[in-house]
Amino acid sequence: MGFAKQVSGTMPSVQNYDAIIVGAGFSGLYMLHRLRGLGMSARVYERGSGVGGTWYWNRYPGARCDVESVQYSYSFSDALQQEWQWTERYAGQAEILRYANHVADRFDLRRDIALNTNVISAEFDEADNRWTVTLEGGKRVTAQHLVMAVGCLSNARMPDIPGLASFRGKVFHTGEWPHEGVDFTGLRVGVVGTGSSAIQSIPVIADEAKHVTVFQRTPNYSIPARNYPLSEDEKRAWAENYREFRRRAREEMRNGIVSEIPQKGALEESDDAREATYDFRWARGGLTFMTAYNNLALDKAANDTAADFVRRKIGETVKDPAVAKLLQPTTYPIGTKRICIDTDYFETFNRDNVTLVDIRNAPISEITPNGIVTGGKEYACDAIVFATGFDAMTGSFARIDIRGRDGLTLREKWEEGPKTYLGLMVAGFPNMFLVTGPGSPSVLSNMIVSIEQHVDWISDCLAYQRERDVACIEATQGAEDGWVAHVNEVAHNTLYPQANSWYMGANILGKPRVFLPYIGGIPAYRAICNEVAANGYRGFALTRQHRVAAAE
Ligand SMILES: Cc1cc2nc3c(=O)[nH]c(=O)nc-3n(C[C@H](O)[C@H](O)[C@H](O)COP(=O)(O)OP(=O)(O)OC[C@H]3O[C@@H](n4cnc5c(N)ncnc54)[C@H](O)[C@@H]3O)c2cc1C
Repeated sequence: MGFAKQVSGTMPSVQNYDAIIVGAGFSGLYMLHRLRGLGMSARVYERGSGVGGTWYWNRYPGARCDVESVQYSYSFSDALQQEWQWTERYAGQAEILRYANHVADRFDLRRDIALNTNVISAEFDEADNRWTVTLEGGKRVTAQHLVMAVGCLSNARMPDIPGLASFRGKVFHTGEWPHEGVDFTGLRVGVVGTGSSAIQSIPVIADEAKHVTVFQRTPNYSIPARNYPLSEDEKRAWAENYREFRRRAREEMRNGIVSEIPQKGALEESDDAREATYDFRWARGGLTFMTAYNNLALDKAANDTAADFVRRKIGETVKDPAVAKLLQPTTYPIGTKRICIDTDYFETFNRDNVTLVDIRNAPISEITPNGIVTGGKEYACDAIVFATGFDAMTGSFARIDIRGRDGLTLREKWEEGPKTYLGLMVAGFPNMFLVTGPGSPSVLSNMIVSIEQHVDWISDCLAYQRERDVACIEATQGAEDGWVAHVNEVAHNTLYPQANSWYMGANILGKPRVFLPYIGGIPAYRAICNEVAANGYRGFALTRQHRVAAAE
């Protein structure tokens, strides 16, 4: 390992690195920082024109985090967490993007990041244990290690609806929002989808637009965010106790979010006490509504109590009973699709300029030059916003032609669903690491906690290899099979597989139904990863540098 080298010979001027990182979101930025710390040469390739990943792309009105900002932030540098002050309980997209840029500047990361650079393929060369990565435009670079920091929710999914190209107005996707913003004043806007991005953006768009028509296939459970500006006292309390908060997030909290740890099941309390508990959490706002009891994800009867409560709240908020009924989810347990948090989402349906259209029973049949057709009726639109989410967890991998041993492609390997060992590596794809890959807690957690854990684990693993002159590390087939079985077993002990969610790949036509993230919780998962490392990377085959390469 050493510094980047230009090697001329059969391949003219191919740049060689110790590691190539794909993606400059929170994962890629921290990975680069850690590799620098190990004295490795690394290059980050990012297809966007700026850093920040999710927060670079998702600039739709109302975009903000749903994990509180004091928790949805890096912990690796105490100086960083002391100097950065969040203004709100849930920072908006612009502030989070400023934070990502601040991190890039503060740690002098930009000089090793190539922006506007799309990685289109990566091929493993078994002769020298290196990856050759091809960038859009044909340039090739090589590295011993490839780190895929491509993001779990970074491949915006545009539905294939007949006639879309004929639409006369403008078409947007929340996950690829124009940088200059969009002025909806005086426009009739159609919003397709009612997931998290829609729930955040609809109230803001409705404030501006002449009319908003919301096309809903599946209603979502949403809890009020109760966002507010953070007081100086709150900021100080966090700053003074960060060390302990971060430790608890990593070691004690299943989802990496510090809150009370529930000791009781929902049915162990009287109806009145339970109602008071839910009322308190509803008034406090935020994702911790779901940690009111310890069995909401496990026991359908317990789950029903929380789901009934939220349905009741929707019924009390939305004035038109028919609209309220459509907005009340009934077909899946609460929490088994990612729960949303909102600001005035249900209230928005009381506005005169908002219409809800059910497309479960009458799907969108076509888009005409003038609008959207469902159930034989055309809804006139001047603009359409697709809030249709992402090809989650695997979509950004599928866009890259990744070839491992014997030319096997990752697409082939994952044809029946993604298979990994610990969500970190894939058998047959040596020296390639995934950050928050399928089979790890990732999207079921405070993602920054999971990102930091993966990046730290990968960094420690690379340091271990360097000390021992290891040329190649690869998950064994047996370890991978065992982990895939475990991930599925744990998921099927919960209520999660009962929902047709993007956790299951169910939002993508033809995508195999496999539970994608690991649901065992962060503390248990961390313990497994640590134990694997402590046992000489159990389940991984490590091959030493052969003599010729070592002598070079
Ligand atoms: C609207 C929204 C809100 C969210 N809110 C929260 C929240 O509150 N809490 C939470 O924990 N998580 C949240 N998430 C999840 C969020 O994705 C993660 O928290 C985190 O930002 C992921 O960071 P990342 O670096 O792993 O991936 P990303 O931020 O997705 O970055 C990956 C980068 O890789 C680049 N890339 C991908 N493929 C290629 C390629 N072939 N070539 C070059 N570059 C490539 C992409 O352009 C992207 O910039 C949210 C996600 C969305 C979409």
